Amino acid sequence: MHFNPYGGAAAELAVRLVNAAPDQDLGRLLAESDYKPLSRIDARQDAELRRWIRELDAVFSNPSVDMLNALLAKTTSRPYISTHDGRAPHLHYSELTAPADERVKAYTAFGLATLFCEDSTRIGRCAREGCPTVFVDTSRNGKRRFCSTKCSTRVHVAQHRQRRPS
Ligand SMILES: [Zn+2]
Ligand SMILES: [Zn+2]
Repeated sequence: MHFNPYGGAAAELAVRLVNAAPDQDLGRLLAESDYKPLSRIDARQDAELRRWIRELDAVFSNPSVDMLNALLAKTTSRPYISTHDGRAPHLHYSELTAPADERVKAYTAFGLATLFCEDSTRIGRCAREGCPTVFVDTSRNGKRRFCSTKCSTRVHVAQHRQRRPS
């Protein structure tokens, strides 16, 4: 997969994993994200990926050089160029034959690290209190604060009510 601006598909996959519901089928999420090659996710890999999701979540809360270096250090990364599935040459961060959880860990760690180096302020979490949703801010001005218009509307309506004299 390619690294487009702002961490590209790898950072977006990290976002989708963190935003996944606790009972969401991770194999299906990876397939829907066009993650390739994808082998079956067994119970051990599923448990490991869910543990990893908590680590990714912590990075969105507090993105820093130390946090991301710690994340990268936990992967079994060996970068090389691949052309699998007819795709254009692109970097891989783990062997194709490695278990899916290991590959997803290396991929998402590098995605977030790339995004951090490009523009750390684009690693975002919704500013509405109580909303845990994370996102990559790909807006032109880089000032996105909410996960959705639904959340921004709720906050603005609440602020408007507060300003109104009672
Ligand atoms: Zn690939
Ligand atoms: Zn939100």
